[in-house]
Amino acid sequence: MADPLPAPSDVPSTLTPDEELARVREAVAAVARELEERGSKAGGLARDVLEAQAMMAEDPTLDTEVSTRVNAGKTGEYAVHEAFASFRDTLAAMGGYLGERAADLDDVAQRVIARLRGLPAPGVPDPGHPFVLVAKDLAPADTALLDLDQVLALVTTDGGPTSHTAILAREKSIVAIVGAAAAKDLVDGQTVIVDAAKGVVTVDPTEDERAQAQNRADARAAAASAPLTPGALKDGSAVPLLANLGKPGGAAEAVELGAEGVGLFRTEFLFLSATQAPTVDEQTASYTELLKAFPGKKVVVRALDAGADKPLAFLNDAHEDNPALGLRGLRALRASEDILREQLTALANADAATDADLWVMAPMVATVEEADYFVALAKEYGIKTAGVMVEVPSSAIQAKRILQIADFASIGTNDLTQYTLAADRLLGSVASYQDPWHPAVLELIKMTADGGKTNGKPVGICGEAAADPLLAVVLVGLGATTLSMAPTALADVRASLLQYTREDAERIAAAALAADDAASARSAAQAAAENLAG
Ligand code: PEP
Ligand code: MG
Repeated sequence: MADPLPAPSDVPSTLTPDEELARVREAVAAVARELEERGSKAGGLARDVLEAQAMMAEDPTLDTEVSTRVNAGKTGEYAVHEAFASFRDTLAAMGGYLGERAADLDDVAQRVIARLRGLPAPGVPDPGHPFVLVAKDLAPADTALLDLDQVLALVTTDGGPTSHTAILAREKSIVAIVGAAAAKDLVDGQTVIVDAAKGVVTVDPTEDERAQAQNRADARAAAASAPLTPGALKDGSAVPLLANLGKPGGAAEAVELGAEGVGLFRTEFLFLSATQAPTVDEQTASYTELLKAFPGKKVVVRALDAGADKPLAFLNDAHEDNPALGLRGLRALRASEDILREQLTALANADAATDADLWVMAPMVATVEEADYFVALAKEYGIKTAGVMVEVPSSAIQAKRILQIADFASIGTNDLTQYTLAADRLLGSVASYQDPWHPAVLELIKMTADGGKTNGKPVGICGEAAADPLLAVVLVGLGATTLSMAPTALADVRASLLQYTREDAERIAAAALAADDAASARSAAQAAAENLAG
């Protein structure tokens, strides 16, 4: 986001309240339409984000808050500034997913105030040559339409891993580092190298560092245009590469990018704004649309995963001091078993109507008993392949036992890291702990994969870790049988796996496992990989 506009001052309005309100409403409507237009131009996830932002702009509660202030004699600019700021503070106080939406609301307020003042909306500068964009934060509306020929990389000082900037940057495959507070010291015109894989910005690089960066950029470009072969190691052993999806509409792009199926369909993303449980018919239609896109292919659907960063009002709307440790995932589904039964009915209907290979798994399984409960219930509905997500250390530790019962396991490294390191995955102040390279996390992944091997059951990975090209090799070396990721990460991971044999991958994994912490695990793996290549 460019520098914010100066805050409006609290001078009395010279217009009547009706005139002020008419100006504000015209500006809000124009901003909402512009956001929608940008969304439909950008398509994909950006459309959903920008449509949500347009709805935020036209929220009736905000309109009431603005009217109250205008009726008290404030100018439209000041009323918008104050009303949006108080709404924003409420969102920010909620933390997590909703807290990160506060920045989206700030952007709407800035756009409305700019329009009221007759100024252009704050946006991305155009220096007339390709550049690295460094900003406090970037509005979704700007991220969605970034010109990738001009913007070589993006660095923001604010925002967390679930900010919309981060999500959209990932979707667009932009080299991006978000939440790098030290970037505020960078000055215009400085030369920098942005290494998103390592999360490092190198200022005034040496010739040698420039050459290495160029090699990495060339390798990335080559990976993007390489043929869409099935995922495999250098020795030909198969590692199917699957897609993480949140909407059936994402299926076409995933197929285009060479996804061999779906490793994680996050069903809760379909119903985040619903106040009532979705009906069986509604769900059957969505799951059928998804399965139809993958004839003969594996599609792993996760039962509704409500809680913490993904609140679903109809599953658990009780206030909890520690929602990440609360009634979430399978625990919440069990507490409303009728909703789980309806979801399984809809999945079975969709399975019967299509010929994809449907696998269904439960989120946040923590005990052997929970695995037993879910698998038995899913089988009652005719689900042929029923498994569990391993996201809690207890289930990794008991994986041998759990995988006697479950048909498969899928490791959610995002939550597994959060629970292993006891660090809230959404909290910026502990973000450095949220690193799946930590050897304790890798050890738990290995225990789970070993549990699969003992029982002859597959163990996939579906957390963000699978999208890191070198970590993907480590995960395979630890015994993961499939990798599932955002479709835009598929090309880089495919290219990376092809450089190593299974024996190489095991050696690289052993080097990472033997390290003391995440940073040394990453560099040990890097060194082992370079050794093997050289
Ligand atoms: C995970 O926890 O790694 C995962 C894949 O699930 P989500 O990110 O949806 O919690
Ligand atoms: Mg999870």
